[in-house]
Amino acid sequence: MKRIAEDDHGQYHRKRQISSSNSLQDRLNALDEERRTIVSEMSAHHSRFDIELANEVNQLIFNNTSFREKQLHVIEIASKGSDVLVLFPTGSGKSLCYQLPAVMSKGVTFVVSPLLSLIQDQVTSLLALGIPSCFISSQQTPSTLTSIYRELSMPLPSCKLVFVTPEQLASNMRLRDALVCLHQRHLVARIAVDECHCVSTWGHDFRPDYRSLGDLRDLVPSVPFMALTATANLKTQEDIRRNLRMTGCQVVSVSTNRRNLVYKVLVKENEEHGAEMLLRYILKIQAGDPCFSGIVYCLTQDDSKKIATFLTHKGISSDFYNAGMSLEERKLVQLAWSDGKIKVVCATIAYGMGIDKSNVRFVVHFHLAKSLEGYFQESGRAGRDGKPASCIIYYGTKDVARVKAILRMHGKSPAQKEKSVVQLEIMESYCKNKTYCRRKIFMEYFGEKWSPDLCNKKCDICKIGC
Ligand SMILES: [Zn+2]
Repeated sequence: MKRIAEDDHGQYHRKRQISSSNSLQDRLNALDEERRTIVSEMSAHHSRFDIELANEVNQLIFNNTSFREKQLHVIEIASKGSDVLVLFPTGSGKSLCYQLPAVMSKGVTFVVSPLLSLIQDQVTSLLALGIPSCFISSQQTPSTLTSIYRELSMPLPSCKLVFVTPEQLASNMRLRDALVCLHQRHLVARIAVDECHCVSTWGHDFRPDYRSLGDLRDLVPSVPFMALTATANLKTQEDIRRNLRMTGCQVVSVSTNRRNLVYKVLVKENEEHGAEMLLRYILKIQAGDPCFSGIVYCLTQDDSKKIATFLTHKGISSDFYNAGMSLEERKLVQLAWSDGKIKVVCATIAYGMGIDKSNVRFVVHFHLAKSLEGYFQESGRAGRDGKPASCIIYYGTKDVARVKAILRMHGKSPAQKEKSVVQLEIMESYCKNKTYCRRKIFMEYFGEKWSPDLCNKKCDICKIGC
């Protein structure tokens, strides 16, 4: 197969080395000195919430012109030291909710995140903004880890955010000791649990080590928690609050309704038919907007390779992105796609989470997602710039059996497998549905009130029905 990575255009080469330094000191030294001074002075002198200061930080440090809906409300709650559960759909600016208070608070904010690729993206972006940040992972070299722990033991560490996976927090005693030591010196500002739906067995991406995060309450009592997710129905929200011991906390949510997105389901007779439909669709998009970007979610690594190969052979600039690739290979594909050097990325369901790009014009699920939450999160990558974008599922009845077989193979408990099947069945009914507005299904599932004017004929059902 002649991959785009190996073609003669010279635009994109996977084998290109990413130059990155793992040394915390190098990274910190590379930060703009002036910004570092601003960040450290601000966090040392402002322990109370100050709206004007928050606005300034948002503009001067984070380069945003204004806050998005409800961000300031969350930041205010967090700055007062209270627990808060944040339910913001993808693209609503969840990360700023803990990043900005981290900059304004004395001490270090620990951020729990499920994937190393997500963590690395965030640390890179924060360092580019001049915000001292790092991550603790088994992939770091011993000397990097030593310099991080040395930094955390300083009287006032300059590092504002430390990212960790839940597995590290559960099993890494050196990390737990550092956390306790910082807490004893009143230097743990907050614990932010990102993608907190992973706490719940009802969430679409349950991770056992997320459940033990509630035990941190005993390790660092009185430290405020912020839990954040794009997808949690009422049952999952209950689980999150119970497991993270934040039952009385405030909940701040933004509507799941994304008005600029069009939702559709198309019937796929077989894989070849799906591939032809996809090609025709992409060619049409390309003719109208040569600078388009899109994501095609696929069920398996093999599917992602096959579809990317098919599209490449048909002249569409595309590549695959899946769990079978090395971290460096994935990074290169992501980078090439972010820069517009490739137009379409064919991703497996589990590994699309690190993708962050605002001008995605379509998200096609070549195979249905495993759950409605998963679908909502993945399709939510479309149209983050607020411009029209489409979320389409190519529904084939055989796909349901394939997903079921994969769910059966997973090493989960029988109860967990049963829940996965229930979630898949809900997803299947979304695909089979010919009656209800697709937004109505989403919104009611996430516990929101729906009314017909919220769709504005931007789903296949409303368009046909009207
Ligand atoms: Zn509708």
